[in-house]
Amino acid sequence: MLTKLFIDGRFVDALAGGTIDVYNPHDGSVITSIAAAESADVDLAVAAATRAFPAWSRMAAAERGRLLLKLADKIEQYGDELAHLESLDTGHPIRDSRGLDVPRTAACFRYFGGMADKLQGSVIPVETGFLNYVQRAPIGVVGQIVPWNFPLMFTSWKMGPALAAGNTVVLKPSELTPLSTLRIAELMAEVGFPPGVVNIVPGYGHTAGQRLAEHPGVGKIAFTGSTATGRRIVEASQGNLKRVQLELGGKGANIVFDDADLDAAVNGAAWAIFHNQGQACIAGSRLVLHERVADAFLERFSALAASIRLGDPLDPETEMGPLTSAQHRDRVLSYVAVAQEQGARILAGGKAPDAATLAQGYYVQPTIVEAKPEDRVAQEEVFGPFVTVLRFGTDEEALAIANGTAYGLGSGLWTRDLSRAHKLASGIHAGMCWINCYKRVNPGSPFGGVGQSGYGREMGFEAMHDYTEARSVWVNVDAKVPPHFKR
Ligand code: NDP
Repeated sequence: MLTKLFIDGRFVDALAGGTIDVYNPHDGSVITSIAAAESADVDLAVAAATRAFPAWSRMAAAERGRLLLKLADKIEQYGDELAHLESLDTGHPIRDSRGLDVPRTAACFRYFGGMADKLQGSVIPVETGFLNYVQRAPIGVVGQIVPWNFPLMFTSWKMGPALAAGNTVVLKPSELTPLSTLRIAELMAEVGFPPGVVNIVPGYGHTAGQRLAEHPGVGKIAFTGSTATGRRIVEASQGNLKRVQLELGGKGANIVFDDADLDAAVNGAAWAIFHNQGQACIAGSRLVLHERVADAFLERFSALAASIRLGDPLDPETEMGPLTSAQHRDRVLSYVAVAQEQGARILAGGKAPDAATLAQGYYVQPTIVEAKPEDRVAQEEVFGPFVTVLRFGTDEEALAIANGTAYGLGSGLWTRDLSRAHKLASGIHAGMCWINCYKRVNPGSPFGGVGQSGYGREMGFEAMHDYTEARSVWVNVDAKVPPHFKR
């Protein structure tokens, strides 16, 4: 198991020698200890990325792409091992790590590998006699801060477009879940990424993360995490006015109309909130039900929730694992009291499971709470297997509820009425809307939010553009420019 920092193509200890224990969320045991990067280590990583930038950015784009394609193949080759690491470290059920995280990670690197030499500039039709062309130039060294909920997949979402566009990278995984990212770094070295192009510095946010966000040698910082930390990143970035991309929290409204296919909606709503124990920024954490179908829906939905198999993430039969950390489990459970204080009804769950085999782990039962739109549990991101039910009567009410939080990331609609679906999809202030499905992601489709959910986009052409600067070049081909000063 890799536990050191990856700087300039080598695994090294932290300069100050600090370490951080990494826990298994299934039973609270220590898996290993990792080196803890601090400011001085981040400085070394940025220096290595700075040295690597000229050659990497001048390398033929197709060659950069070829390395990313080779990496995607390696990820598939070592898929079982990567899935195991991810489940051990994060608590993702192995069926999801193997069936979703690994293939999506490979697909993302492959998509951007293919795109590396498709990123084109343009020629602008300016005045006769001049040629004006616009190049998409890489930014330089980019800093990337990845959270603990999808470490493997988010590593590819962040590094894929940055590297394809010719940037070099310093990436800080969460100190809670660094193991799969360190293994990716090793695979990158194996396929031939030059030293310094990618540097991985696990460490605490307030030291390593903060230094990366404020570092004068970093041209862009891309962050996924909470809205509160996102604000701190913006402040830290101001010293050198670096570019910032933020993928923050969400409070996804998943709206079920009275004409919906209820079987599909019940299953889709369970996937929307309970996949990865609800630890997803796009989770459908507000279940907005038409009053005519709400009771019938909730009966089926509660039965499905109660039947979800909680257990050891490494067991292929497990459908829901533990939350990733004890601290986070406590935070999620604290929202049950918050809900009760505001008069919300707990319809299911609301505590840790009773099974003795799960007692040492960070488990929470699938929890369903019925509340009012203004309640804290309908406004704040809980980030767990905790769904807040709200009822509506008209389309206008549904839209008002959907748009009634400060967030705007994921959203969903279940209806057979096409015109209503398209109308609502354009009316909801959110970066993504899923109609009769939920939580679909694809490397080609832009992903990101509006409002307090952040700005900038991951994946697709948008992500590539976000990792480049437009450079405009003017050439006087044969224009006769009259002299401005007549001497
Ligand atoms: P944070 O936003 O605090 O952490 C996310 C990442 O940012 C971690 O790697 C963290 O490191 C790092 N970080 C923390 N402080 C700084 C800083 N000053 N400068 C730079 N980096 C920093 O989220 P939490 O892990 O505390 O989770 C709290 C809540 O955030 C969750 O309950 C959820 O609501 C939301 N969240 C949203 C995510 C998303 O996908 N959009 C992902 C994760 C969380 P460290 O771990 O050392 O603090």
